[in-house]
Amino acid sequence: MPLKITKSCYSCYACETVCPSGAISIVGNLFVIDPAKCSECDDIESPRCIAICPEPGAIIRDNS
Ligand code: SF4
Ligand code: SF4
Repeated sequence: MPLKITKSCYSCYACETVCPSGAISIVGNLFVIDPAKCSECDDIESPRCIAICPEPGAIIRDNS
């Protein structure tokens, strides 16, 4: 299930620096995750971007 960055994001850049897939980029001034690039960090137990994000709810699993 891909991940998604929500409106709670305050653009701290932390997730972008830890993503091993280059899946996080800034479009305008919004951070977005490219679902085609995101591996969901399946090499480890949980996504690096969620682990480092200081804002609860800024990165969620996208159920849509
Ligand atoms: S889950 Fe992993 S690969 Fe996907 S955007 Fe987050 S850090 Fe990048
Ligand atoms: S780590 Fe969280 S708050 Fe920081 S840019 Fe990424 S989604 Fe936004």
